[in-house]
Amino acid sequence: MAGAVGGTLLSPLPWKLTDDAAIWSQNWFWRPSPARGEITRKPTVCALCEGGCGVQARLVDGKRAILLEGNPNHPVNQGGICALGAAGLQFLYAPYRIAQPLKQTKRRGDPTGFQPIAWNEAVGELAKKLGQMRADGKPNGLAGITRRRCSSMDALLNQFFAAYGSPNLFKMPAHADSLKLAGAVTTGREAPFGCNIEDAPYILSFGAGLVEGWGSPGRMQAAFRRWRQGGKSAAKIVQVDSRCSTTAAMADRWIAVPPGTEAALALGIAHLMVKDKLYDAEFMADRVFGFEDWTDSQGKNHKGFKFLVQTDAYTPEAISKLTGVDPAKIRELAKEFGTQKGAVAVWGQPQGSVPKDMYNELSFLALNALKGNIKAGGAIGLAPEVPLGALPELPGDPSALKGLKQLRLDLASSQKGPPPVLPGNNLHGFLDAVSNGGKYPIEVMLVHEANPAYGLCENKLFQQALTKIGTLVSLSSYMDETAQQADLILPIHTAFEGFDDVIGIPGAPYAYYGVCAPVLKPHLNTKAAGDIVMSVAKQLGGSIAAALPWASHEEYLKKRAEGLAASARGALADKKGVELWKLQPEEAVKPNYKDGADLWKKLAGGACWYDAPVDPLKDLKTESGKFELAAQLLLAKGQTGDDDQVYLPHFSQVPPRGSDKDYPLLLVTYQMSALADRDLANPPFMTKTVFDFILRQNDQFVEINPATASELGMAEGDSAVLKTPQGEVPVRVHLYAGARPKVVYLAQGLGHKAYDEYIKDKGVNANGVVEVQLDRVTGLGTVWAARAHLRRA
Ligand code: SF4
Repeated sequence: MAGAVGGTLLSPLPWKLTDDAAIWSQNWFWRPSPARGEITRKPTVCALCEGGCGVQARLVDGKRAILLEGNPNHPVNQGGICALGAAGLQFLYAPYRIAQPLKQTKRRGDPTGFQPIAWNEAVGELAKKLGQMRADGKPNGLAGITRRRCSSMDALLNQFFAAYGSPNLFKMPAHADSLKLAGAVTTGREAPFGCNIEDAPYILSFGAGLVEGWGSPGRMQAAFRRWRQGGKSAAKIVQVDSRCSTTAAMADRWIAVPPGTEAALALGIAHLMVKDKLYDAEFMADRVFGFEDWTDSQGKNHKGFKFLVQTDAYTPEAISKLTGVDPAKIRELAKEFGTQKGAVAVWGQPQGSVPKDMYNELSFLALNALKGNIKAGGAIGLAPEVPLGALPELPGDPSALKGLKQLRLDLASSQKGPPPVLPGNNLHGFLDAVSNGGKYPIEVMLVHEANPAYGLCENKLFQQALTKIGTLVSLSSYMDETAQQADLILPIHTAFEGFDDVIGIPGAPYAYYGVCAPVLKPHLNTKAAGDIVMSVAKQLGGSIAAALPWASHEEYLKKRAEGLAASARGALADKKGVELWKLQPEEAVKPNYKDGADLWKKLAGGACWYDAPVDPLKDLKTESGKFELAAQLLLAKGQTGDDDQVYLPHFSQVPPRGSDKDYPLLLVTYQMSALADRDLANPPFMTKTVFDFILRQNDQFVEINPATASELGMAEGDSAVLKTPQGEVPVRVHLYAGARPKVVYLAQGLGHKAYDEYIKDKGVNANGVVEVQLDRVTGLGTVWAARAHLRRA
């Protein structure tokens, strides 16, 4: 209870809701209207984001859900709930729910063209089309985009695509995409890094929106409560950020830097730690490769990180020129970070939705490596594998093998620059290839619980690609911007109606698994996404049907969970007091369930499974057998450059498109806990927590510094046009002293052109004006800033 109270106190939600509830409950015609009856609570795991929180639904007579609250027994959120979760039930009863399968009978995008179609006809049509493509020897013409969150649907779709014969399956972009590849470069294991942040006494955050919900908003709320309780759990937070974000405002210290220079400051601190010998020398000598100069397998000598970081480029004076931070302050930070036991550096955007440049990732990892944080018992670890049951082996069907022999479309097609040496989940590259007539056509695209037409940065890429795609099939609960463009809509259960699961907590170093069991029966003619995919597989028959043999999505999840029981690892948390951050690497966690059936029963009842972190340096798969600061993997993959820094963490910044003359400002977008981003839109109660200097009626405000406003001749509330090389949008101006001069800040999560009157046409979509830069190493679409121009409307 204390957790829940603390969690809500950290948020403006209760106060805004108290203020507005009366008005809303009377004006909102589709509000849930519970009958009187017996009140019960049903615990489950929230599937609205990747946070993995335990929640409980309050039900009337076991039939009608009237409230979602945080589950105090759940170790991730410990009773807290975020604004999205608290308003989450509104998705169940929303008017934009898709009530039955729909087929577009007119021109794509025409809302009057959607006609109801029976489930067997809808699935039959899709299976017939896919069957014909296989018969024509073109299974690689199938593509898919699935949601960002990690769940067993990933494995199911991978299995379906592999059995069918297409290499073109992507996820919506996430920070985990680049973190995983940084894991591959430094440890040989493609897994994202996580951080034991709860017990850290000193947190140096490079733009990580800890309060806004870094990785898992529920986990961060609980961690923040600990840090602010004082005593042993108190933490000093230093926030490096260009804007005074909520985290910066609540931190002990805010270090303001120009956007995109956070990694430069990290390397400036590393410079001083090396110079002043404030690093873990034993660790660097024994377990790290490439700190000192090194020799490759061909006998060629290369400079190491110690040399690079001590060059003139990273002196306090040079870094001060880049960041504007006084050299004395950089020295102070380096001393504080270097000498404080248990200090950790964290990085990444608030809700982890954008991959980072590989050298940024490596720079922040290098700072932690100097501190000795990347080892057993250190704060930074690699997310452990969750030992879920394996899927059936694929029989090697000739039609599928023919399709899989084709390279993924983004890699097969000619590219603007040199191809990435370590290609990742490059959705932007794929869509670009489709738009520009890639090596082969995409005839069918499946979009599962994702909304790229709205939520992809530079979302016009999706629109352009769509003109070249034969059939768009949407597996969505809502008539969102992507579903509106679909040729066929197969509606799926929303969170809390059907079985789903959550694998891992983004940003956490321990193993986690949660089952999102339904708290009430579906009330519309929808299906679980897994059931739809299995039905299509059954109709396709043969090796594809054999690859997905389960009777239902629920049975599939049960089989996956049997793997946990068979591993004899991990335990269930269903009572208060489990402190996941106390788990030691490789600690033997004893199972506390009887067997697989008992495990499933408890998982479906809201308990979660957890296991200890792994030693990130155990069984390293790198060339050197050590943690590699000098990335021999990049050398082996053919990464080239003018000097040895291409193998080392270093700072470089690709300038945004356009000229200073045409675009004298920079645009930076930001995420906030009051706005759902990417694949969901704000439910009405959540929108009521958005301050009126961000959204007033339909007008969205940009934040600019008063000095910049004065130069532009603008005042508070003025109407303006924000223009970038990517597009322009109407905005109003909010003067904010926490905004950096000459930078315009725009919140993400508004500007929908779909859903309902409570969110549609409110504000502008930041994804239409941001700039995506493809990382030279991974090809992932990274975002830091766009050049911008602001003029009076
Ligand atoms: S943080 Fe995510 S998982 Fe947790 S309650 Fe909010 S939406 Fe649900």
